[in-house]
Amino acid sequence: MTQFRHQLSVLAATCLLTLNAASQTAPATPSVLAQQAQALADASEAQVIEWRRHIHQHPELSYQEVQTAAYIAAALAKMPGIEIQTGIAKTGIKAVLRGGKPGPVVALRADMDALPVEERNDLPFKSTVKVDVLGKLTPVAHVCGHDTHVAMLLGAAQALSKMRAELPGTVVFLFQPAEELGPGPLLSGASAMVKAGVLDNPKVDVVMGQHINAASPPGAIGYRRGSLMASIDIFRISLKGKGGHGAMPWAAKDPTLAAAEIALALQNIVSNQTDPLDGSIVVTVGMLQSGNRFNILPETAEIAGTIRSLSVANQKIAQQSIRLKAQKIAESYGVTAEVAIDTGSGYEVLISDPAATETIVQALEAATGPGRAKEMRPIMGSEDFGAFGKNIPVVFWMLTASPFPDRPGPPNHAPEFTIDEKAMRVGVRALVGSTLAYLTRPASAPVPAKAL
Ligand SMILES: [Zn+2]
Ligand SMILES: [Zn+2]
Repeated sequence: MTQFRHQLSVLAATCLLTLNAASQTAPATPSVLAQQAQALADASEAQVIEWRRHIHQHPELSYQEVQTAAYIAAALAKMPGIEIQTGIAKTGIKAVLRGGKPGPVVALRADMDALPVEERNDLPFKSTVKVDVLGKLTPVAHVCGHDTHVAMLLGAAQALSKMRAELPGTVVFLFQPAEELGPGPLLSGASAMVKAGVLDNPKVDVVMGQHINAASPPGAIGYRRGSLMASIDIFRISLKGKGGHGAMPWAAKDPTLAAAEIALALQNIVSNQTDPLDGSIVVTVGMLQSGNRFNILPETAEIAGTIRSLSVANQKIAQQSIRLKAQKIAESYGVTAEVAIDTGSGYEVLISDPAATETIVQALEAATGPGRAKEMRPIMGSEDFGAFGKNIPVVFWMLTASPFPDRPGPPNHAPEFTIDEKAMRVGVRALVGSTLAYLTRPASAPVPAKAL
């Protein structure tokens, strides 16, 4: 490892010399800049691994990323020319690197939070952290890979800060809290950062981000020109009838039967009411509870579930239809229905802007090597990154990092989730390469029409 680090630092020094020499003569061309950025990204590998292991060993839950933010701020403070603002949306950080030449403003985002899961990996830097959650000692671990996101973004910041004089534009680094919060009364981290104004001053033109997974061997990238990840809504239906004896159902108002019929009726929203060509949608009932004894008709029943949609139109149809079916079916049983849908708190459809994505496709391919950056199918999982894209384009991609060379590893959020750290080098390359591709794009970049 020591010798490896020495080689990397020699390489970094060589890159800097090349860059300084270039800046004293003619302005660097986009391809020269891209090559220099890749070399600097590669040179940061050992440091990125060190950052990642520290963050992995010290995970923090959503909106509690205090030590994580302090660690990030300390690392950023060592990089030349980076202005740092902390305490944004509680624990978030915005860092700005103003290039030596005029140009667009690219923001890069990493999420910082971990999950209430006990890690089951045999790693020297495995998490043993436990925190108090509502009076219960709860294990915490980085089983969604956000530790790697932070480390890769720090790697990109370090590489780009060394090229500051040559950069044609500005780069904003966003370290975001609370991605894992989910829909509910509290704003998730991305929405809270936007509300705090991180996309203003300087006005950001595009936000880019990535997510790691163990779906396939390390170092491949999946991108998409259009809808990439689904929106998420949570619905709850509370039914209230009139309890009674199991022998005399006619004397009661039975919420159990109403609940059963509602659960079935919700299934035809997808099959009969949404347009499949507008984007996939899933309506899932995950909870149905009523009664506690065979001969007692209960007074209440509860249904809860989730809507996942790649289409804003279909999402709206599902929301309206759930309300209507619940009300009408309940009415037919003489039962009342209260429907609550948690939506709009930042987990909208994540649409990777087609034109902006096109701008960086070559950079992603350069990051992975030939044939390993490919257009992917959308996924029904959700991310709050889409909240950055309400008024400006966003681009998102998936980075694979299975710990096995020939098969997938455990999925994100599993206690055994782990990654092959060599994928992070590709992730840093992708961040710096995509940033430069956007900063140096021709004025009339092609705008392909392919969406979903
Ligand atoms: Zn997650
Ligand atoms: Zn995640």
